[in-house]
Amino acid sequence: MLHSAAQKSDVVSRINSQIKPEGESEVAVFNHPEFDNHEQVVFCSDQETGLRAIIAVHSTRLGPAVGGCRLWNYATDEAAIDDVLRLSRGMTYKNAMAGLPLGGGKSVIIGDAKTIKSEALFRAFGRMLHRLGGSYYSAEDVNITTGDIMQVNKETPFVAGLEGKSGNPGPFTALGTYQGIKAAAMHKFGSADLAGKTVAVQGLGSVGFYLCEHLHKEGAKLIVTDINQTAVERAVNQFGATAVGLHGIYEVDSDIYAPCALGATLNDETISLLKAKVVAGCANNQLKQARHGEMLRQRGILYAPDYVINAGGIINVACEMRPQGYNEAESTAKVNQIYHTLLNIFQRADAEGKPTSDIADVMAQEIISRGQQ
Ligand code: NAD
Repeated sequence: MLHSAAQKSDVVSRINSQIKPEGESEVAVFNHPEFDNHEQVVFCSDQETGLRAIIAVHSTRLGPAVGGCRLWNYATDEAAIDDVLRLSRGMTYKNAMAGLPLGGGKSVIIGDAKTIKSEALFRAFGRMLHRLGGSYYSAEDVNITTGDIMQVNKETPFVAGLEGKSGNPGPFTALGTYQGIKAAAMHKFGSADLAGKTVAVQGLGSVGFYLCEHLHKEGAKLIVTDINQTAVERAVNQFGATAVGLHGIYEVDSDIYAPCALGATLNDETISLLKAKVVAGCANNQLKQARHGEMLRQRGILYAPDYVINAGGIINVACEMRPQGYNEAESTAKVNQIYHTLLNIFQRADAEGKPTSDIADVMAQEIISRGQQ
């Protein structure tokens, strides 16, 4: 309670001293370069468990926001804000292009995955999630397992990708990526048949390895690389793949380069090395900068936009969220649609003389502005 006029005037002058003239605000979120009218950005802290998390709901225009929770030891709070703003916006675009009745969101927990994990921490996160009332559903992402999400689920139903339901998204992301590669081959080489085509696969993890299986079955020749030599040996033994060094993968004679490991592998240095005429893989954030989409186009390389080709996993998770529940056959049929979505993007990009990455963004924005059908 403020009693005296002097006390009140002191508070007013303190508030006024914090108001900056227009254009000079220093608010960390609203002026952030990655801020894109996100509906909610929630900072969560729980002293008992050490939880520090940020939940960003970018858009619920098409439905409840869905996106994974990432556990990462960010160097600064700013780096965590940067990541959550960028990733949540990306989920809005990904879900829209996948034809899902879902918006986009993402969450990050700040900490060292080796030491911070506990049931109490995930339950505290679950209570924070619950307060959002279902505007955001969380799933697994980097350093978060479906087992961790099961702990979150003890406090809130607003989670997706649970054990015993849709399960591991990897094989579905691989199927969608395989369909995307076929669409790109159709557009670039005039046939979706991959028999005899050479595909350079970078990264043989939970998506890359399944992708190789599809490609091998169809008769594609594989060139592979990974920092994990065991994974490389398995691919050589099972699929007759040719192994190359980590950097060599960009320069090999191939028809298709499939980045399935890291982000930002399409940059000034690597694009000029590529001999492949198609880039189509599952990795997130493949273009180091947006302008690299145009650089690929100018080199005559067809690029399958990452968030469209790698949507198989989220399509499968979304299937579990339907009132009628999960159905593998229906999920698979929807993942196969990625083939047609990409063909549409390629055709429109040609017609408008623009990079496929820009066209995907425009198409996603059109879907979002139309709203729920
Ligand atoms: P993963 O961690 O299981 O596999 C990544 C593989 O890349 C590992 O085998 C790792 O050793 C290898 N790797 C790391 N650095 C490398 C390097 N410099 N050169 C070559 N190989 C390297 O991950 P994942 O689930 O298979 O996902 C792969 C990519 O796809 C990631 O970018 C991920 O964000 C994206 N993605 C995955 C899914 C999914 O369903 N898992 C969905 C959408 C997007």
